[in-house]
Amino acid sequence: MSIDNLIANVIRADVRAAGAYVVPDASGFIKLDAMENPYELPAELRQELGQRLADAVLNRYPVASYATLKEKVKNKLGIPAGFDVMLGNGSDELIQIVTTTVASQERRASVLAPVPAFVMYARSAQFAGADFVGVKLKADFTLDMEAMLAAIALHRPAVVFLAYPNNPTGNLFAVEDIEAILHAQGEHGIVVLDEAYQPFARETFMDRVKEFENLVVMRTVSKLGLAGIRLGYMTAAPELLAEFEKVRPPYNVNVLTQVAAEFVLEHIDVLDAQAASINAERERLSAELAALPGVEVFASSANFILLRVPDAAAVCAKVYDARVLIKNLSKMHGMLANCIRVTVSTPEENSAFLNALKAALTQA
Ligand code: PMP
Repeated sequence: MSIDNLIANVIRADVRAAGAYVVPDASGFIKLDAMENPYELPAELRQELGQRLADAVLNRYPVASYATLKEKVKNKLGIPAGFDVMLGNGSDELIQIVTTTVASQERRASVLAPVPAFVMYARSAQFAGADFVGVKLKADFTLDMEAMLAAIALHRPAVVFLAYPNNPTGNLFAVEDIEAILHAQGEHGIVVLDEAYQPFARETFMDRVKEFENLVVMRTVSKLGLAGIRLGYMTAAPELLAEFEKVRPPYNVNVLTQVAAEFVLEHIDVLDAQAASINAERERLSAELAALPGVEVFASSANFILLRVPDAAAVCAKVYDARVLIKNLSKMHGMLANCIRVTVSTPEENSAFLNALKAALTQA
C-alpha cells in the first residue's frame, strides 16, 4: 500500500496538478492583503452580541428556511421587494454553487470572466468540471467589449462573472458594457454581478434583477466588516434561485453566523460609517501614493488600491520586513507585472504602509 498510488488512483488529475489557495500567516503583521475592514465592532455592541451568541441554540441544526436572517438581509441590504435571497458560507460558496449548478457531464459548460479577475471564478469552474474562458481586459482595465462579445458568441458561456468593482483592479466596469453583456447572454447564459465591494462603490445592479431574468447579483458581508462570520447572499429571478437552492447544502450557514448577522444587521449604520471612513482614507492614500516617484496608482472604487512600482518583488520584500503584509500580483497575470494590491485600512495602518513603501522605494 502506497499513499502515492492511492492518490494517483483516486484523486482527479487536475486537482493533483492544482496548487492550494495559499493564505499567508499574518501574525505580527499589519494585515493589508485581504481587503478586510480594520475596524471591530464597538465594545458595547460586542458585549450585546456575546449575550446573543450565548443564547444561540447550538444543539439543533439551523432553521432550514433561514427566514429571519433572510428577512433582515432583504430589509437592511436593499433587496428589491418581491425578491428572495440565497445565503452562502461566504460568497465563495455561492460562486461554487453557481458553477456546480451549470456544469454537467453530458453538456460541458463554459464559465467566462474578464481577466485579471477574482481567482475563485476560474478555480470553481475548474473544480465543477466547467471550462473557464478568461477574456483579457484592456490595458486601462476597462472591458474589451469586442473580445467579450466575440468570446460570448463563440463559447456560449453558461455564466459570465463580472466583479463590480473588479478585484484586483478596483475599477467599476461601464454600465452600458454590462448591459450589453446581459443582452448578449440573453436566454443562453447567466451574468453574475459580484458586488463584494459594493459598500465602497455604492453603485449597484441590484434593482435591475427586475429587468434582467438572467442577472444574479451576489454580495458578501465580508468587506463590510464581517469577514470572520462567512456570509454571502445573492438575488435573482425566483425560478433561477430555486435551481441554485437544489445544489446548496441544507445547513450551509451555521447558527453562530446566523445570530451574529441578525444582530449586526440591526446596527448596519455602524458598518456603513466604517465604510465611509475607509473611503475617505482611500482618497488620502491614493493621493499620497500617486505623489511618489515611480509609482502608478489605479483609480479604485473598492477598499483596496492597485499600484505599479518599478520592482514589485523587491518592494514587497522590504515592506514585508517592515511587518506589513500586502499582495504582490505580478505573477497573477501578465497585465499585472510589478503590480501590488493594498487594502485600505485605518489612518495609522495606511501611514505605516506608506512609510514602509517610501523606504522600500528608496532602497530597492
Ligand atoms: N468576490 C470577490 C470579487 C472577492 O474579492 C472576494 C474575496 N476576496 C469574494 C467574492 C469572496 O468573498 P467571501 O468572503 O464572501 O467569500
